[in-house]
Amino acid sequence: MAAPVRSTFDSSLTTPIQYVKGVGPHRAELLKRMELQTARDVLFFFPRDYRDMSELRSIAELEENRPFSLVGQVEEVDLRNIGPGKCILGVLIRQESGFLRAIWFNQPFRRQQLVRGKRFLLSGEAQFKGGRWEMVHPRIEPLGDDERVPAGRILPIYSLTEGLKQEAMRKIAHGVVEKYASELDEVFPEEYLAAHHLLPIHEALPEMHAPHDAEGLARARRRFVYQELLVLQLALAMRRYLLTRRKSAPPLVVNETIDRRIVRLFPWELTADQRRAIDEVCRDMAQPFPMNRLLQGDVASGKTVVAIYAMLLCVAHGHQAALMAPTEILARQHAETLAEQLRESRVRIGLLTGTLPAAERRRMLKEIAAGRIDLVVGTHAIVQDDVQFAKLGLVIVDEQHKFGVRQRATLKHSGTDPHYLVMTATPIPRTMSMTLFGDLEVSTLREGPPGRQKVRTYIAAADKRDQWWEFFKKKLREGRQGYVIAPLVDESEAVDAASVEQLLECLLDGPLHAFRLDLLHGRMTAAEKERAMRTFRSGETQVLVATPVVEVGIDVPNATLMTIEGGERFGLSQLHQLRGRISRGSHAGHLCVFAEPTSEESQKRLAALAETTDGFKLAEVDFELRGPGDLFGARQHGLPPLRVADLVADREIVTEARRDARALIEHDPELTAPAYARLRKMVLVRYGKAMELGDVG
Ligand code: ADP
Ligand code: MG
Repeated sequence: MAAPVRSTFDSSLTTPIQYVKGVGPHRAELLKRMELQTARDVLFFFPRDYRDMSELRSIAELEENRPFSLVGQVEEVDLRNIGPGKCILGVLIRQESGFLRAIWFNQPFRRQQLVRGKRFLLSGEAQFKGGRWEMVHPRIEPLGDDERVPAGRILPIYSLTEGLKQEAMRKIAHGVVEKYASELDEVFPEEYLAAHHLLPIHEALPEMHAPHDAEGLARARRRFVYQELLVLQLALAMRRYLLTRRKSAPPLVVNETIDRRIVRLFPWELTADQRRAIDEVCRDMAQPFPMNRLLQGDVASGKTVVAIYAMLLCVAHGHQAALMAPTEILARQHAETLAEQLRESRVRIGLLTGTLPAAERRRMLKEIAAGRIDLVVGTHAIVQDDVQFAKLGLVIVDEQHKFGVRQRATLKHSGTDPHYLVMTATPIPRTMSMTLFGDLEVSTLREGPPGRQKVRTYIAAADKRDQWWEFFKKKLREGRQGYVIAPLVDESEAVDAASVEQLLECLLDGPLHAFRLDLLHGRMTAAEKERAMRTFRSGETQVLVATPVVEVGIDVPNATLMTIEGGERFGLSQLHQLRGRISRGSHAGHLCVFAEPTSEESQKRLAALAETTDGFKLAEVDFELRGPGDLFGARQHGLPPLRVADLVADREIVTEARRDARALIEHDPELTAPAYARLRKMVLVRYGKAMELGDVG
């Protein structure tokens, strides 16, 4: 028997913050703004950064190309514009022993912070240039007028709030660690700590707040990063178990006859990646519990084929399949593709969207409930309460990122659960997919079908317009079609619609007056959208002027031209998705992005877009530019943010935690072993709700 679990919640760790030594009512209010309510909260309020004061130097002692820190006072600030959107900020920093020039490129906003007379701690590598020391893009830390910087140790830097000084925060944290850290319970059994080379909490926690040296800090940090990631991975592994092994689904086994019958319907050979993904899907669907798989593929890599295969396998066994798409346009396109490819078969297809007239909807629901429709394609309308399936075997969600990550489509059905396949065209780095989609098995389509022409991407300023439109018109005359994407205005469809209409007018009055243009935006009715798509697909319309709604899934191979206005306002993956619209046929695509980069980041985003068409590479760039915080902070997936771990820097620990969590859950799916009681509680408190782990006993 392991020791009984003593709840940490009734110890003095829950001492309200105002009663902690050195706090008092005024500071307590400030701390509460940062969600620090109790002594325990402060213990886990780790420094956001550290400065290695063992390398604190005076200017006279600097050496080239090695990182140092130094304390100095702002003497002079000089901001110089050197071209559109470009500037140099030079700041002269004074110490008794001399001057150093700190330099920032294209960061004019820093001027507000770097006020003459203020003291700062600067860290970075210095160069000796033109008789003076220079530091480019140093990290800076404001210091109080007489704040001392203790030399010879690693200094913690905490996040602050208005009115709370760094020195005060350090004192509070120091006091709390001294007094309360010993009361913390260890979540890991001793053997586990030893086996995974983890510092016990009583050593690790003080080290986080007041590290002895860089190595000690690294070891302490590793413990908390590992713990945080393990707890997350345990939640994901439990969820995976609940959604698969704990349920039952019809085993839908493929055989040669079925395979041959399905493959014959496709007008081309499957790519090797498609074949592999199909095999993985078939393996899952043959099991007596639900598949829970993500099909990840770059834009235009041919995911639809894998989806169709899985649906037909399901129908071959006499079960129904449902395919859900995020927009009506896309649902309709899928229904058409299916109808076209299944012309020769007896498979019955139904389209169920929100705009179906009431009578028709009633009839459709009846057919679905009676099992007279095999494939139901639709929008969110298929998850409505009154949609009841007779014999549902498979649910596919296309462009799943548009729905939000955690949200599962639960469709009404009787009997066993359906298999589940989600598809996304937003390639994400591996550590991200192991985290956001850690409960799913992942199949990946990397290579598109052969014979595809690459899209050439040009990033241009306004002075290139005439030249681009000449080229655009030439290609239209050769029979190609194109898109013009209006700039993102804001979240409101109304404003976007207006800007698209304006853009259309400008084009008709200007460069494209001799061509057939049409509109597509979110404010149009379903019938209007359908007409716009139909006439574009048939070639009647040559150019579609659209809001970024076309981003999602549209497939018109003859459209090979695209102009994007206001490119600096789009995210990298969105630009890549848009470009995916014109990389679908055998003619080369040409994309021109008109942009006025407003920041270094937008400049880098656009440069990356021009440099590669590999969505997975772009995802890595985006990840590094924006940082995981942004992705994790996104409301859409509904997971609490990570506090210590950094998915970029801690890649290896992500992999390790995932492997360990899966192994633990494999042996003990609900983690009921007494030795893991604390860990289990932590998992449920943190992720129980977000991951719907309510079923865990
Ligand atoms: P996405 O992965 O973006 O959903 P689609 O499934 O829409 O891509 O496929 C993109 C285009 O590639 C479609 O026009 C489709 O018909 C075509 N396609 C799919 N698979 C193949 C293949 N194996 N060989 C040739 N063309 C293919
Ligand atoms: Mg698609």
